[in-house]
Amino acid sequence: MAAIRQHAEDTYPNECCGLLIGQITDGTAKITDFIPCQNISDTPAKAFEILPTDIISWQKKLRGTNTQILGHLHSHPNHPAEPSDRDREQISDPLMIWGICSVKEGISEEVRFFLPTGRKFSFSSISFKIGNEL
Ligand SMILES: [Zn+2]
Repeated sequence: MAAIRQHAEDTYPNECCGLLIGQITDGTAKITDFIPCQNISDTPAKAFEILPTDIISWQKKLRGTNTQILGHLHSHPNHPAEPSDRDREQISDPLMIWGICSVKEGISEEVRFFLPTGRKFSFSSISFKIGNEL
């Protein structure tokens, strides 16, 4: 979790973004790594966008390993760790975990994880096992 908080604080007051890497064993997802990515949004203080080639290159790197991209995480500068209206509009893959880290005045606060529910524009809060190295 320190890696997530550090990246969120380093990019403040802009939103940070990155990929959540981990394993699914016996139906339990465990996040083991956080890969910071560049936020390529035109308005990085209010939105995030991960370079599609970053996602593809990590998918290739992880091929053949026991880990995979489980989802992504972004930060909410001076906003709570709740999905925003913009986040709801951006749901594309219902299997992706959404991590949100709130950062207030440059200090990271809560980190929460959500899963799109399958109903459009709707998330449910979930808890995940986090590896020690995070
Ligand atoms: Zn958001």
